[in-house]
Amino acid sequence: MKIRQIRNATIVLEYGGLTFLIDPYLAPKGAYPPITNTANPVNNPTVDLPVSVEEIVRTDAVIVTHLHPDHFDAAAIRAIPKDANMIAQSEEDAETIRREGFHNVQALDRVSRMGEVRLFRTRGQHGTGEIGRLMGDVSGVVFKHPDEKTLYIAGDTIWCAEVEEAVLTHRPEVVVVNGGSAQFLQGGPITMGKEDIRLTCSAAPQATVIVSHMEALNHCFLSRRELKGFIEEKGLGTRVLVPADGETVEC
Ligand SMILES: [Zn+2]
Repeated sequence: MKIRQIRNATIVLEYGGLTFLIDPYLAPKGAYPPITNTANPVNNPTVDLPVSVEEIVRTDAVIVTHLHPDHFDAAAIRAIPKDANMIAQSEEDAETIRREGFHNVQALDRVSRMGEVRLFRTRGQHGTGEIGRLMGDVSGVVFKHPDEKTLYIAGDTIWCAEVEEAVLTHRPEVVVVNGGSAQFLQGGPITMGKEDIRLTCSAAPQATVIVSHMEALNHCFLSRRELKGFIEEKGLGTRVLVPADGETVEC
């Protein structure tokens, strides 16, 4: 498989002969105001796309893990062809995407297979307490294919029982987690921080862990530099990868 980190949680995945676009957030740098109720008043996204939108949207299927605007934005709605194979986490999200004019949208529960690639929905927690509840439902996806390693894209979740269950159930050899330690003025982080990533590594000792969702939003406070320092300190440098935007990882 080839995993290309685009920006934020946007990934282009080549797997089992198919190309998947995950969580397209395609606006130019600074197109949106800072996220409400956060420190660091900088417009989003905080960085530009590393490649053209036209190149990004040329895929066999688009998977939207949840409908927060940093995972599916107005620019993506404009750029993705309306007949694209769209896969949403649930029937409710699929209906919302259909209302944007897409006419080939399915819920992940119903799409168990694309070509020879098998897909499995996983769950997560987008934060704890009141903030976690406000963030709503999120999902991840496990990919399996006879000629590929098992891949688990966890989506916007902190380390939690659901992530542990996904790791124990599917035994992925490659795990993509969303880092950045995104945070509001109140409450704890809503995406993984350093310790969540370390716990994921402990639960999946067989896996290469790739950290996405870094350095693209005003409220993500964990930098790649800080995370890489932590990874080295914990002796995880050989199996935790923190790709730059535009970088491709082959597994
Ligand atoms: Zn996000």
